[in-house]
Amino acid sequence: MIKFLDLKEINDGLSREIETAALRVLRSGWYIGGNELRQFEAELSDYLGGAGVAGVSNGLDALRLIFRSYTQLGRLSPGDEVIVPSNTFIASALAVSDSGLRVVLVDPNPETHNLDANDVEATIGPRTRAILLVHLYGRNSYSKEFDALAKTHDLLLIEDNAQALGACYEGRRTGMLGHASAMSFYPGKNLGALGDAGAVASTDPELMAIVRSMRNYGSSTKYYHEFKGFNNRLDEIQAAILSAKLPYLDDENLRRRNIAGEYIQLVSNPLIEVPSMPADPQEHVWHLFVVRTQHRDALVKHLSDNSIETVVHYPVAIHQQSAYSEYKQLSLPVAEELASQVLSIPIGSHLKDSDVDTVIDVLNAFTY
Ligand SMILES: *Cc1c(COP(=O)(O)O)cnc(C)c1O
Repeated sequence: MIKFLDLKEINDGLSREIETAALRVLRSGWYIGGNELRQFEAELSDYLGGAGVAGVSNGLDALRLIFRSYTQLGRLSPGDEVIVPSNTFIASALAVSDSGLRVVLVDPNPETHNLDANDVEATIGPRTRAILLVHLYGRNSYSKEFDALAKTHDLLLIEDNAQALGACYEGRRTGMLGHASAMSFYPGKNLGALGDAGAVASTDPELMAIVRSMRNYGSSTKYYHEFKGFNNRLDEIQAAILSAKLPYLDDENLRRRNIAGEYIQLVSNPLIEVPSMPADPQEHVWHLFVVRTQHRDALVKHLSDNSIETVVHYPVAIHQQSAYSEYKQLSLPVAEELASQVLSIPIGSHLKDSDVDTVIDVLNAFTY
């Protein structure tokens, strides 16, 4: 069986580092808001290239904290519009609507699956205040055009960097390209905790001070509350495990990029469209390798008959989810087509070279 994802295999490879970290926390007697958190925040800040970093409970909460904190700062007000790509994990949209802001869905470029600045510009209206750049599947979606749009229209550029930690645009890491960014360390992400975890990063100290307070009941001094905040903290044990794993993230991402390169070069089946390698390969960390086909059910069965697991990211577009029934009249043809055609095939360091060869051979043998 070639697994889609094998967390046991991935974490077994670092079991000594992880056990040492977990045991250190157990024996310290200090489980929330201590040295491990501060240490991980400093290390992630270095990795990103110097932003302020706040460890938080998960990726959705990281996004919510950004939107809520900008609201506290007066940069956003209830009812303001945020442009969100129509093809993303639902958390991107949930964070916006939960913060009392309006989600404006824009179809992505069908090649990159990411937003195009031209399409975004055409959607900007009098209440548009922010663009949520989702680096979907691990591919950077930022370009200088977004910077220009943000400056011209006085918009916030917020990065959903849940899938792309480690990717670079012209030498700068994703997560450092806009005004603020959210990371997720859900176990299956490229850098995964052993539970829920996330982080907010920004070079704006004013924003970071509010995020730090908001994640801890809106309090910076115990029992004194400047905001109506949340409990969105990152546990010491998860912070320690993330510190143990962060030094290996670039290796993991490189392995993913090499596998993606092989798939791109060697899968040649007219029934299967493979994604492209960006002109600068550093722009993609391949959280997912997503192919397209008009015969998805048949391809899933063919792969499964050959013991290869697959997953669909994502089978239902946001505007067609029951949770967003108020958007059901919208027509977003790219998102709708992707939802019916995309298929994620195994990628990651749990794959052996022979597994990669098998996946390629089985994909090339698919007929319909
Ligand atoms: C995983 C993910 C999130 C949410 O992260 P959690 O840690 O699961 O809350 C948000 N956006 C995208 C694009 C994701 O892939």
